[in-house]
Amino acid sequence: MTNNVVIPSRCWCGKGILTYVSKTEENPYRRFFRCEIGLKKKKEQHLFKWVDEALLDEIQRMHE
Ligand SMILES: [Zn+2]
Repeated sequence: MTNNVVIPSRCWCGKGILTYVSKTEENPYRRFFRCEIGLKKKKEQHLFKWVDEALLDEIQRMHE
């Protein structure tokens, strides 16, 4: 059980979260949430979460 926000609506920096599609070889076409600032400033820590993992967390939380 984690205390993470399950489906994020905002990054901790205050910016909105957008949904992107991964194009890496490890995760082709896998969707993820990403802070729009985090995409531009890769050295900074901004919110990142896979969409399918967020949905799994949500389902788990509903069963608790
Ligand atoms: Zn951010």
